[in-house]
Amino acid sequence: MLISVAVPVPFLDLLTYNVPESVAVPPIGARVRVPVGARTLTGCVVRHDALVEEGTDVKDIGEAVDREPLLPPSIVELCRWVADYYVAGIGDALAVAMPPGARGKASAFRRQRIATLSALGSDPGDGSTQPLESPHHRGLTPKQSAALQILSAAPAGLPTSELRERGVTPAVLAGLAKRGLVVLRDERDDRDPFERAAMMDVAPDADRELTEEQQRAADDLFALADAAEFRVALLHGVTGSGKTEIYLRLADRIRRSGRQVLLMVPEIALTPSMAALVRGAFGDRVAIQHSALSVGERHDQWHRIRRGEIDVVVGTRSAVFAPLDRLGLIVVDEEHDGSYKQEETPRYHGRDVAIMRASRERALVVLGSATPSMESYQNAVTGKYTRITLERRVLDRPLAAVRLVNMRTEYADEGPEIVISRELAAAIGERLARGDQALVLLNRRGYSTAIFCRQCGDTFECPNCTVSLTVHRAGSGAGWRARCHYCNYSVLVPTACRKCAAPYLEHAGFGTERIEEHLRERFPDARIGRVDRDSVRRKGALTQILSKFAARELDVLVGTQMIAKGHDFPGVTLVGVISADVGLGLADFRASERTFQLLTQVAGRAGRGERTGEAIVQTLYPEHYSIQLACRQDYPAFFEREVVYRRGMRYPPFFALVNGVVRGRTFDDAMQQAREIVRRLEPATAAGRFTVLGPAPAPLGRLRGEHRVQFFLKGTRRADMRHALLQVVAAMPEIRRRLTIDVDPLSVL
Ligand code: ADP
Ligand code: ZN
Repeated sequence: MLISVAVPVPFLDLLTYNVPESVAVPPIGARVRVPVGARTLTGCVVRHDALVEEGTDVKDIGEAVDREPLLPPSIVELCRWVADYYVAGIGDALAVAMPPGARGKASAFRRQRIATLSALGSDPGDGSTQPLESPHHRGLTPKQSAALQILSAAPAGLPTSELRERGVTPAVLAGLAKRGLVVLRDERDDRDPFERAAMMDVAPDADRELTEEQQRAADDLFALADAAEFRVALLHGVTGSGKTEIYLRLADRIRRSGRQVLLMVPEIALTPSMAALVRGAFGDRVAIQHSALSVGERHDQWHRIRRGEIDVVVGTRSAVFAPLDRLGLIVVDEEHDGSYKQEETPRYHGRDVAIMRASRERALVVLGSATPSMESYQNAVTGKYTRITLERRVLDRPLAAVRLVNMRTEYADEGPEIVISRELAAAIGERLARGDQALVLLNRRGYSTAIFCRQCGDTFECPNCTVSLTVHRAGSGAGWRARCHYCNYSVLVPTACRKCAAPYLEHAGFGTERIEEHLRERFPDARIGRVDRDSVRRKGALTQILSKFAARELDVLVGTQMIAKGHDFPGVTLVGVISADVGLGLADFRASERTFQLLTQVAGRAGRGERTGEAIVQTLYPEHYSIQLACRQDYPAFFEREVVYRRGMRYPPFFALVNGVVRGRTFDDAMQQAREIVRRLEPATAAGRFTVLGPAPAPLGRLRGEHRVQFFLKGTRRADMRHALLQVVAAMPEIRRRLTIDVDPLSVL
């Protein structure tokens, strides 16, 4: 028999192999060893009874790895859909669904190695990038020198696959590793960190009575669940309306009916209490899927699910591929959250895959949010989804009252140096005096956003990317380090200007580190913590800070959007927002939506306990509608306003977008290739199937040393757009490794 096998080689389609008469046909979802060129790889059986053209030379499969399917056939099918919809390789799509162990030695799936410069390979002192002059580097081949140069620009290291694309072969790396100049390590997956310790002590109150509004919502959802059909419900409930309690009751009902539940959360580390509540409610038959567990633990959890020992899975976006085979319910909590979108191949959206999966397995999907995405709410408006609304907080707690502070007035009165307005400072002081807690949001990390010389104007820009470097405190010592948030290039900031030697370097713009410092100076007795990607880099740090804040061992928590998500801290009665308009300047059609979501969500963290909450929002644009309506926490009004813009501009949810980015060594090269793609799309656009915008330089014109040019396809039928793109790619095979295709992009930089 001929079978179709997916192999873990980017861009490769299914391959066909022969299973000799004497060998048992491996089932769909099982792994097999197969010859690919000169190599033997581990692939996954995707289809039986494959057909090939007469006379094609078909090789035999090698040994079978599994007798039983490793992946259930339903998941294999789901991955095929993902590969197709998101224009990704089937091997890449299957890799996401594989248990972590299967990517290790037993299989070639996703075996990513990272190469980093060693201490010998890097320049010891100031972080500048001149490794070639060190005495250790004599006698290197030109290729080895070139490799060191590339690596010196990427302190965090680069995957060997990416290095290979840039001409650095494994042999070159091995040579450097042997001389101790380069260190090779296996990839660590940091996408959804969660630590065991994050299981905070949360006692679920089993006898708690639902409020009337909760009960009505639960009853509506019960009815949908009992139909045991594919349905999508949008649970639109204001912050603090008690959505979690409803999820738990619904999950219990599904479980009792003999079916299984998948509960998706944006980032487990940020909502540890959700995992704890579910564990508390369903005990041992709960699996938690997150990548910060050891490979062994993840492997065990996955196989417990696969063996059917689990009723409820709690996990982040990749949990949508959990091998459950009696799925009855998928809850997507905070469905608007951007972290459901994977920003690398396959670029899938966890919520959208959840809906597709549920439709195949006749399950109910509940999308929960206080600030639904425009896409989901529009589907509720048209009746495609059932809308269920919670308009009030539990126990009639009022929503936080929001006050706007116009920073223009503040600057006029207090001078340009002011970062915390008089009103906000006074409110924080009041909370400290009362023993209440406060959150202070600034969605920009670092100390300052730029540094420049007052005498000659020299600035610190990333040599690899078109961004200015963000300045961080270099550590416990004085000193500053300027770092690129895209490629991780960093350099110590000297005390005098590099160009003119003047000793006047000035900081411009400010981030969370500066706010923290400012608050410490202003309120020396307050206990202050900070949550952003820099402060929680160390394993366990995030859990530690959040637990301390929950235990009221901290008074003020400063942070980026990480502090705005789902948290339930009853002691918080004040939320301060510094620079509410940070995101509004971006050239992105979702800027207003994101700003509205962030402000509404963070304001929703205040007043969740017995005492009423208040939010103070500092802005330069107090009249902007997304800021105005977030203050009123009026989602329907925001939707009505935004939808007019989206329809008028032919943006989602009315039109679908596909983004293409072409990378090149020079701008002209990237532009020329992008033009060629667009030219080849002309017949399809002429036929009116969709329109093409661009090509144009991407907002991030250079990234990690490569020039970037982008274009968009806009239309109502994604299938047409995908089809046309695939045809172009087939005709220009060389473009594959330089072209990134993003279907339904969330961020377009
Ligand atoms: P949401 O996710 O809608 O913002 P949560 O589910 O976090 O809200 O609930 C907000 C708070 O209200 C939590 O502390 C929760 O324990 C509490 N709560 C939920 N339902 C009830 C209820 N029926 N009675 C009392 N407290 C409740
Ligand atoms: Zn950079």
